[in-house]
Amino acid sequence: MTEEMQKTYRIGPIRPPSEANSLLLQITEGCTWNRCKFCSLYRRRKFKAFSVESIKKDIDVMAEYAKLAQEHLLQDGSWNKRAALVQRLEKMTHAEQECYYFIYRWLAHGGENVFLQDGNSLAVKTERVLEVLRYLREKLPSIRRITTYGRAETLSKISVEQYKQLKEAGLDRIHSGFESGSDNVLKLINKGVTSEQEITAGRNIKEAGIELSVYFMPGIGGKKYSRENALETARVVSAINPDFLRIRSAVIHKGSDLWNDFLDGSFQLCSENEKLMEIKLLIENIKDCTTVLVSDHIINLLQNVQGRVDLDRQKMLSLIDEYFNMPEYKQKMFQIARRSGIVTAPSDLNLLPRDWVERFSATIESIKDEAEWDYKMNSMMAHYI
Ligand code: SF4
Repeated sequence: MTEEMQKTYRIGPIRPPSEANSLLLQITEGCTWNRCKFCSLYRRRKFKAFSVESIKKDIDVMAEYAKLAQEHLLQDGSWNKRAALVQRLEKMTHAEQECYYFIYRWLAHGGENVFLQDGNSLAVKTERVLEVLRYLREKLPSIRRITTYGRAETLSKISVEQYKQLKEAGLDRIHSGFESGSDNVLKLINKGVTSEQEITAGRNIKEAGIELSVYFMPGIGGKKYSRENALETARVVSAINPDFLRIRSAVIHKGSDLWNDFLDGSFQLCSENEKLMEIKLLIENIKDCTTVLVSDHIINLLQNVQGRVDLDRQKMLSLIDEYFNMPEYKQKMFQIARRSGIVTAPSDLNLLPRDWVERFSATIESIKDEAEWDYKMNSMMAHYI
């Protein structure tokens, strides 16, 4: 069977953690910018926008598999029906089966959320996205929420009126990796966007009634801009009041442009404590916002620091202070245990088996140089991304 004849659809690799159970519909591939110095995600791929026709074909296959799953498994679990399904599955290619199971899993999780891939889907003409949204909602009526990623620079060029049309056609939430609100940091990482564009994008999206989820990277400005990274991000967030502010502590990957800056000495890695201090400064300085700060990634040192900035500010700051009040040695013990994936909160240290404590102590004792320690933590974190 040739690829064209198969009943499959495209599935891209990237989605936010909050979309883990979402159906993934690929309307573009790659990123239009591809030049952020910390990101190698789509580096080898050229940006591609798929035609509306081919996206509709993908949606048709999804709708067909959704019908099949519902008929055979969700509404009638009798053995006859199951046998018929097995027969049908046996005739499918491996790729078709994967597509079917993806739909089945999606329905088992409620069949409500869809994420439009890839890195900058709103770079395509609004009319095309509108057509896709309408078709998608028509063919899969169980959908309750549709979200997508967008680059702030691209998003700043979309008008409130266009966002309103997108909202009406069924786009509910936009995720955007702002990373920083500092123009110096944005320049340093070659983000290709200004804080002013971030604010324009954010305000337009919010005005149209679309939910906005922005991402902040503590540590991405290196030691030089650590404080500025936090304070300027607080300024941008305060100007927008996004629905969600997601924390992604910076990890510098070998092979990225920022790694080369680190090697030539022009970029200095932030310590775990400096990144946490940025989060503290950020929480302290966000003004007049109902934003929910979310820490939905293992990469963050204190994953339990989350909540609504206006209501839970003190609770979040207390958790951070609790950590900073620990002796330095215990802080390092927590860092290495956390980066080894065996603790979540500092209180878990009391449960660490003796042999682990001994092993970690030996590592702490052997690394006296702070820069070397920061390098080790960065390397350990790199395993998670
Ligand atoms: S905009 Fe996003 S996907 Fe594109 S290069 Fe930057 S970080 Fe990577």
